[in-house]
Amino acid sequence: MSGKICYPDTASAQKFLDRALTSQELADEWLGGREWSVRQEKRMYRCPDCGQWHLTSRA
Ligand SMILES: [Zn+2]
Repeated sequence: MSGKICYPDTASAQKFLDRALTSQELADEWLGGREWSVRQEKRMYRCPDCGQWHLTSRA
């Protein structure tokens, strides 16, 4: 809901993850200001609503 980003495939999502790991600004945008750690668990999942891929920082 809040600024959720959609990716058409896992490659696109993975590309974002790679960039987020090296960009604090991008990470902040993704996590909405929450604390960021490169060790934080990162997952991508297929959305049942739009059929695209979303990222989550939660397990
Ligand atoms: Zn969706």
